[in-house]
Amino acid sequence: MPPADRRHRASRHVPKVGFASLGCPKALVDSERILTTLRAEGYEIAATYEQADLVVVNTCGFIDAAVDESLETIGEALQRNGRVIVTGCLGARPERILERHPRVLQVTGPQSHAEVIAAIHAHLPPQHDPFLDLVPPQGIRLTPRHYAYLKISEGCNNSCSFCIIPALRGRLSSRRIDEVLREAERLATAGVKEILVISQDTSAYGADIHYARGTWRDAQYRTRFIDLARALGTLGIWIRLHYVYPYPHVDEVIPLMAERRVLPYLDIPFQHGSPTVLKRMRRPAHAEDVLTRIRGWRRQCPDLTLRSTFIVGFPGETEAEFETLLQWLDEAQLDRVGCFKYSPVEGAAANALADPVPAEVQEERYARFMERAAGISTQRLQRRIGERLRVLVDTAQEHGAVARSEADAPEIDGVVRIEGAGGLRAGEWADVTITASDVYDLHARLADAPAQ
Ligand code: SF4
Repeated sequence: MPPADRRHRASRHVPKVGFASLGCPKALVDSERILTTLRAEGYEIAATYEQADLVVVNTCGFIDAAVDESLETIGEALQRNGRVIVTGCLGARPERILERHPRVLQVTGPQSHAEVIAAIHAHLPPQHDPFLDLVPPQGIRLTPRHYAYLKISEGCNNSCSFCIIPALRGRLSSRRIDEVLREAERLATAGVKEILVISQDTSAYGADIHYARGTWRDAQYRTRFIDLARALGTLGIWIRLHYVYPYPHVDEVIPLMAERRVLPYLDIPFQHGSPTVLKRMRRPAHAEDVLTRIRGWRRQCPDLTLRSTFIVGFPGETEAEFETLLQWLDEAQLDRVGCFKYSPVEGAAANALADPVPAEVQEERYARFMERAAGISTQRLQRRIGERLRVLVDTAQEHGAVARSEADAPEIDGVVRIEGAGGLRAGEWADVTITASDVYDLHARLADAPAQ
């Protein structure tokens, strides 16, 4: 660096922001956007609270446990730094935050990117410096270099009785398809090998903006679920679809999965298998014959992986309804399953429902559900022994690596443990042969090179 530049750098204080990001991948994407803006404006991101000039806490308010975690994180940031701005879902209820932490500098709500940036400017003004303005085109990301979340919309037009996200994040607000595709292209150009499409309701994408048309790479697309899948499928990287509901139009994406233009993987939060419980939950597509739909999908794309989450112990859930859920699970044979015991969320309509399920019954049903799901997972993974798969390495180890196949989303699904192989690197593809399986994971060795 020339001496004049060194003097310039030494004479100024670069504002440093600490950051804590809590909650779901959608909140993570909000955090990435905030961090990208801050870096573009010349802020540095501090590695610890102590090194920061102020701390931003992006909170989650989805369930009471998340609220507690958010309030504790704010408390820790206040203790270790003292200057804290709060944003995110819990920010929609500032009184909850301020009654416990009155020293917080400012609270902004969810989806309030401009507001949180303005709050940071007010309490820690930016300093322009061309050396610090160089932000990589793909922005700042909190995920490893080889995968990235792509948020296509905010908010939700559904009204599930256990959920307050529409109240916190507002109604569906879709990003135009050309903007989304340009972001996806930038990510792919930067070396991202897997894009995870997220929203509150991916199947509803574009309904709020009348499926507006946009142009990308000289072709016209509508802001619509199937157009998005088709366009992303041309990027030549893994495309994984999350938060899809089993509406009839989702059938259109299955041929793209069979052709491997997008990953044969659907994350559909079914939440229950009993029609009466689903009705009380006011779930989208609750009237659809989902089992018939799943059978049809698997006929067209036999190695489709289905992931879902469920709630047991919802108010009024009878033993018969719970048994229906278990039978439904046996028939659906889902690959990946998560389960929550129902817990009331302040402001949710379900709180007014009669007949809460006692905690010990919830516990017992949770254990039965997980046992059944684990049995299905074990059996389905066993069938993969002997298969040759292409996997993406997440973490390299001295004598192996932790990787994922098409069937495994990061953080939430199982992994493929590659054993007895050194020299692999994170973000690299590997061809493996599956040698063993357990309840949730596969074990593998590097595959022999194909014969010439
Ligand atoms: S689909 Fe239901 S659970 Fe999901 S965000 Fe919308 S209202 Fe909440």
